[in-house]
Amino acid sequence: MIKEIVHYDAPVLRAKGKEVGAITPAIKSLIEDLFDTMRHARGVGLASQQIGVALQVAVIDITGVKERPSKMWIAGKPVDPEAFMPLILINPVLKTTKTKVVGHEGCLSFPSLTLDIPRAQRVGVKTRTLEGGVFEFDAGGLLGRAVLHETDHLHGRLFIDHISAEERREIREDLECIKRGEPIPERPEK
Ligand SMILES: [Zn+2]
Repeated sequence: MIKEIVHYDAPVLRAKGKEVGAITPAIKSLIEDLFDTMRHARGVGLASQQIGVALQVAVIDITGVKERPSKMWIAGKPVDPEAFMPLILINPVLKTTKTKVVGHEGCLSFPSLTLDIPRAQRVGVKTRTLEGGVFEFDAGGLLGRAVLHETDHLHGRLFIDHISAEERREIREDLECIKRGEPIPERPEK
């Protein structure tokens, strides 16, 4: 079912997600809602906090995004990321490289706001699967960025937490608009 996406600064976006225990029908239905809502909004990722549920569950699908390539490795070997889409993250545990890369990022909870965010170049991911097993992979490019962005959500962290105090001042008006549910003012490209 398509759910309403929660916008900044709803308190649930700052809630740390509870770890998922058993994969119950309620969890499966939450995952379906996440996929329906993400696809409807044309996003590449969505965390449960964004539909008002503070649990450690997120979904990702980078299929078809050609202009921003994704990378994926399983057991150290490169694989085609699209062969593993869509992806479900349940209680994900990450290991990141120290090297960071800056890239454009948006968030469905911050309509029309894009920011340049530094993120680890590569991330090791260990997630539970719907079948009760464990899936491990490494991700880079857009997929790596999406994993880091969505896992942040699961811990109540947002992409605006990664910018400098100065940049934060620059977007203060934009954030106020999002809070009020108004469109953000157009600004010339820097
Ligand atoms: Zn987001």
